[in-house]
Amino acid sequence: MTPRWDERQRAMLGALGLNWWPGAAGKPGRAAPAPTPVPAVAAPAIAPVSAPPAPVVAPVPARAVPVAELLHTLREPAPLQAPAVSDVAGLDWPALEERIRSCQACGLCQKRRQAVPGVGLQTADWLIVGEGPGEQEDLQGEPFVGPSGQLLDAMLAALRLSRQPGAPAGQVYIANAVKCRPPGNRNPEPDEIAACRPYLLRQIELIRPRVILALGRIAVQSLLGSEAPLGKLRGQVHRGPLDLPVVVSYHPAYLLRNPLEKARAWEDLCLAADTLEAAP
Ligand code: SF4
Repeated sequence: MTPRWDERQRAMLGALGLNWWPGAAGKPGRAAPAPTPVPAVAAPAIAPVSAPPAPVVAPVPARAVPVAELLHTLREPAPLQAPAVSDVAGLDWPALEERIRSCQACGLCQKRRQAVPGVGLQTADWLIVGEGPGEQEDLQGEPFVGPSGQLLDAMLAALRLSRQPGAPAGQVYIANAVKCRPPGNRNPEPDEIAACRPYLLRQIELIRPRVILALGRIAVQSLLGSEAPLGKLRGQVHRGPLDLPVVVSYHPAYLLRNPLEKARAWEDLCLAADTLEAAP
């Protein structure tokens, strides 16, 4: 792990609202201030956890890969009602977002207020993929805007990242596996995930991120086609669409219900950061 590990840990804990961190002598020390203003998120004190060394990541090919080839990297075929690959291949950002906002390719279109394509820098090094819009996201048209979004922003701020422009370490892009809110905040069904996947794949093709952070089981299903438990997928670097590195972590909503897992989420963030640093 890089020598700045302790500094980043302290920054993360400070951003999460934790007011202590062991000093060099093993006694409580002073939490580092968060590098950028972030929303306060209540969290109990947790023990520091050492992160595993980042696996070596193979160079990412620079060649252009068409969407049709991307789909072959996925294990689940898209159902018949999904938008045809030719429908999104070649779309630029404005056309893609317009296509998403008017999409009726699955049943989630029926009760949405609006589709939520994503937010952030459209050429970002970091792509954060969540599950689907909730009530507030459906209202505001932006992913991760409720308490889960506040926690995600705090975690990103600990790495000097933000969805807003001007962050010291860069601006991220945030999207969801499905772009429309499942009624009652239920989990998206497999056919809904598959129907929306071409949009996510086209976003990845346009962004060309250097690392993808998959938050939660639905994001993992869409990006990796895996049904394995998150606990078995964490702590390693997977190869996703375009052969890009994918790091798996918990969804912030899960972390709000299970705050002690924030330490593991921090490990995942640092693994993603180290993976990006190692990437060409
Ligand atoms: S969830 Fe995706 S596939 Fe389904 S209607 Fe919304 S944009 Fe279309």
